[in-house]
Amino acid sequence: MTSPAGGSESRALVHLASRIQQRASRSWTVMDICGGQTHTIVGSGLVPLLEPAIRFVHGPGCPVCVTDVDLIDHAHEIASERDVTLACLGDVMRMRGSSGNFYDARAKGHSVKVVGSPLDALALASVEPPRRVVYFAIGFETTAPATALAIRLARRRNIHNFSVLSAHVLVAPAIDHLLARELCQVDGLLGPGHACSVTGLSALDKVGRDHRKPIVIAGFSPSDLCIAIMTLTEAMETWETGASNAYDRVVKSEGNPAARALIEEVFEPATRTWFGIGPIARSGLNIRDSYAAHDASKGPWTRTRRSDKVPSETHCGEVLSGARLPRQCPWFGTTCTPQTPLGAPMTSAEGACAAYFTARTPTPEGKTHAP
Ligand code: SF4
Repeated sequence: MTSPAGGSESRALVHLASRIQQRASRSWTVMDICGGQTHTIVGSGLVPLLEPAIRFVHGPGCPVCVTDVDLIDHAHEIASERDVTLACLGDVMRMRGSSGNFYDARAKGHSVKVVGSPLDALALASVEPPRRVVYFAIGFETTAPATALAIRLARRRNIHNFSVLSAHVLVAPAIDHLLARELCQVDGLLGPGHACSVTGLSALDKVGRDHRKPIVIAGFSPSDLCIAIMTLTEAMETWETGASNAYDRVVKSEGNPAARALIEEVFEPATRTWFGIGPIARSGLNIRDSYAAHDASKGPWTRTRRSDKVPSETHCGEVLSGARLPRQCPWFGTTCTPQTPLGAPMTSAEGACAAYFTARTPTPEGKTHAP
């Protein structure tokens, strides 16, 4: 969680907030699309600081939250094979399929190992033959290059017992889908700095122009976000559209061409179902046929049916698409807490509901940043 801003940073934030309040001629609805940014916005007190000029809503910016239950169930099925180790990042362990999370899978005796990266999973495969290692790959464009690299290295090094179940998703098609919704009331968006460091600005720029909305690429600290919101407020006030960059110390307008080439070589865009939102065309990354030998969704593990037990926490979908704030869910903080999560946005540490719950929990000094 982000530390509350203090000292000179706090004074700078108050100054920036007052400039935003003065510039705003009305209340603007701003969506962020990154779990890290959501946590900073909520945890560092930006919500009350910027009201009423800015009203925040939070988009599908947590990749753990948006992974479809059917894909999680597929990973469980693969993990249940006797000669398979499922490898995943630590925050994947709490993801719930229709029969529980991956701690539950472990408790049933399935081999599930936490790794630090897909390259660690590849290293595991190289010392484990004939055991097969399947890496369950979650994340946006930020993490896809490392997964692509692991797949390419597996082929070059003839590590035949390594494969990947890809749940990678893409930011721009999801935003395009949300902005096209009839009831969408978003006036402007904060772009995710980490994903844009790979993609550059062009894809989000097209989405912004197509829907006549401004998108400002932002970093992750309270001051990074306030500066981006200042730029976004100016853009909303002057009806600018398209993407601009308030995080240029990290994000270049062309992105990272080498990382994009790696993604392009190994993956191809495909329709992906987003939890709580539904199928979105060209919003996922599937492994190309040329790398099919390392694709866990093909061959013996090809999935031919969808899960029949899909959870019905419809409010999670509304939170993930920015139509409802976590505190507007009737189960928030009562039935649904990080210890007893009903849905992915509370289960994942990056989720919006977890961010709001953490912000209302008093610090040792008795302070909260409850929005
Ligand atoms: S509080 Fe729980 S049930 Fe409600 S939207 Fe958040 S995760 Fe879903």
